[in-house]
Amino acid sequence: MTDTRIEPRRYSAVTRRDLARLPQLRALGEERLLAMRALSAVLPFRVNSYVIDELIDWDNIPDDPLFQLTFPQEGMLDPEDFRRLVDLVRKDAPAAEIQALARDIRLRMNPHPAGQRELNVPRLDGEPVPGLQHKYRETVLFFPGPGQTCHAYCTYCFRWAQFVGMDELKFASREAERLVRYVERHPEVSSVLITGGDPLVMKTRVLARYIEPLLRVESIRSIRIGTRALAWWPYRFVTDDDADDLMRLFERVRRAGKHLALMAHVSHPRELQPRPARVAIRRVQEAGAVIRCQAPVIRHVNDDPATWAEMWREEVHLGMVPYYMFVERDTGPKRYFELPLARVLEIFQEAYRQVSGLARTVRGPSMSATPGKVLVQGTARIRGEKVFVLGFLQGRNPEWVGRPFFARYDERATWLDELVPALGEPEFFFEPEMRRLELVAGLRPAPLRETAPAHRAGRLPRLRQQGRPR
Ligand SMILES: *Cc1c(COP(=O)(O)O)cnc(C)c1O
Ligand code: SF4
Repeated sequence: MTDTRIEPRRYSAVTRRDLARLPQLRALGEERLLAMRALSAVLPFRVNSYVIDELIDWDNIPDDPLFQLTFPQEGMLDPEDFRRLVDLVRKDAPAAEIQALARDIRLRMNPHPAGQRELNVPRLDGEPVPGLQHKYRETVLFFPGPGQTCHAYCTYCFRWAQFVGMDELKFASREAERLVRYVERHPEVSSVLITGGDPLVMKTRVLARYIEPLLRVESIRSIRIGTRALAWWPYRFVTDDDADDLMRLFERVRRAGKHLALMAHVSHPRELQPRPARVAIRRVQEAGAVIRCQAPVIRHVNDDPATWAEMWREEVHLGMVPYYMFVERDTGPKRYFELPLARVLEIFQEAYRQVSGLARTVRGPSMSATPGKVLVQGTARIRGEKVFVLGFLQGRNPEWVGRPFFARYDERATWLDELVPALGEPEFFFEPEMRRLELVAGLRPAPLRETAPAHRAGRLPRLRQQGRPR
């Protein structure tokens, strides 16, 4: 058995209320602390003692990547919004007034990139099944109701709308039974990806209620759990009261003949360094699960090739599998974190060139957009025109996969909806079918792209963005 002699730690969240009391923050000075209190009224903020003691390098704040990952920063809001908010907090305005402004700012931050609800929530007996998304034929995403929070929050998280008390925007379902009925009726689904928030904030016995019925469904070959707990709270696998029960649950999944994958969100190699994380990784592996790792590229956090190469190497070294590198998507404080696709591609390629084939299981950079997971494969020059070579890793229509397509090279574009078809094509090959799908879903179909090239002026139809699971 694994050496699990890790000093247990009792989980307790550090939230907005605690900011003023954190000794480590004093070095920042009054003004920054005030700013942080203001920011955390809008953006979800939660850390815990493990993140504070073991991950953040307090000698290097505010630049430390793990600090940037967890503590809200000034540049994350529009300057005018930020100023108004700070004014309110400074003069100790009534909480209701601060909340009203915060809510107004949030609503303008695209908390639910469109298309997610309308296009992906499947139906069972004519009724929508909340908490379920079925976009790619083989896989359903399931968002268990009690798993829509996390041990700590990432400042760049696009799921942030689920954490800040906007219940009407929640995708949540306590209905494991409906999940099972759905997959039984859809034998084409071979994989269930349980995601959140972080499903591992649930107690093992709650999680088991979702997982165990799936073990009896023959067509389900794999169960995946999207989690950030290896980084934010490794004690979940090691010393928490029901950590051993979790390992037993994992073993039962394996004994039932299902592949079990922990889809671990790892955004910085330092998250893999502390001993609790290492012991957690070993225990999960000993219980028979494969750990696959994925993360978005984030400015201020991991926007250089060396960080990614080191992370992938370390993952392989620890027996984990590098899986996806994502492009950050269009919600929340995107402006603060986003990078041009051209730069993200450079980071990917430079990192990829440095690692052995064992780490080249990673694919990316990938955009989870409305039509599918779109890979930026590289750049090329075709008949004198510089282009991005794109392709689908997953498509709303499986036939789209394996069919390269081209967009005009644009060094500033940050997302698929800012790209324009290359080589004189009027639109991308999948757009007519996408419009049809949107019509069927009762959405207003996007107009043709004939008004190009004014996409930056907002005249081009925006391809709606799409949720990515972790
Ligand atoms: C990424 C994703 C999946 C899983 O895709 P894999 O390529 O199998 O990892 C499933 N559903 C949605 C909506 C996704 O975005
Ligand atoms: S990125 Fe994942 S772990 Fe981080 S806050 Fe969002 S849902 Fe939670």
